[in-house]
Amino acid sequence: SLLLDGKVAVISGAATPRGIGLATANLFAKHGAKVVILDLDEKAAAEAAAAIGPQHRGYVCNVVDKDACLKATERVIAEFGRIDILVNNAGITQPAKVVDIDPESWDRILDVNLRGVLYLSQAVIPQMKKQHYGSIACMSSVSAQRGGGILGGPHYSAAKAGVLGLAKAMARELGPDNIRVNCVTPGLIQTDISKGKLTDAQKAEIASSIPLNRLGDANDVAGCYLFLASDLSAYVTGAVIDVNGGMLI
Ligand code: NAD
Repeated sequence: SLLLDGKVAVISGAATPRGIGLATANLFAKHGAKVVILDLDEKAAAEAAAAIGPQHRGYVCNVVDKDACLKATERVIAEFGRIDILVNNAGITQPAKVVDIDPESWDRILDVNLRGVLYLSQAVIPQMKKQHYGSIACMSSVSAQRGGGILGGPHYSAAKAGVLGLAKAMARELGPDNIRVNCVTPGLIQTDISKGKLTDAQKAEIASSIPLNRLGDANDVAGCYLFLASDLSAYVTGAVIDVNGGMLI
């Protein structure tokens, strides 16, 4: 049978074409889930969900806004009655040198990438506790592990490292409720987040330094999210899965 048959999955940051979130929404739907896309724009989210199929939904939700997270979660429960899977995927990046990070940039990068994970999880966890069932997957990054990345500045590394700590703390606390919490740490994935920021020559150079000799694409990450969302990973919690082509070997 299908890996996510009858499951309800909420995915943040999933309305952008070519993005990891939308690829994940498509893959989850293919495996039988009812999918709810949350993103900054209601119309874009609704259209992205409708393009997958009529049983899916897309709602506005700025993950930095706690009330918005609560409201979106209420809409999901009103529509589908449960939430089995949460993918905390929304994120933004910004290149920067450490001495140049101003307070506003620090707040913006930390807010979307880290605070957003807290707020959306806080909104969804009570329902998962009621069900005594849930899987939460969180988006970190190789930037957290390497202390810097190709595209993200030190504030991005700090935020994504914070996600690892937050996710492990949630995994520890929520294990007794049969709620699993895991992270993915992708390397360089070709999506709009990096569009126009690297030349073809730079991409080729990066690819040649990666054991699998290529950059990643959104489906590479979606596959790991699928594993973490499904009962294939029923005994996996607090884990961090690298999706980087071997970049850290
Ligand atoms: P993307 O820009 O296509 O996707 C990010 C999505 O998040 C967009 O749909 C955007 O509208 C949404 N978003 C931004 N701020 C939001 C907010 N406040 N509330 C709700 N939604 C918001 O880029 P992507 O590469 O698919 O990124 C997805 C995630 O993967 C991000 O967390 C990113 O940091 C992370 N990541 C990406 C890479 C990469 O190389 N592309 C590597 C490691 C980690």
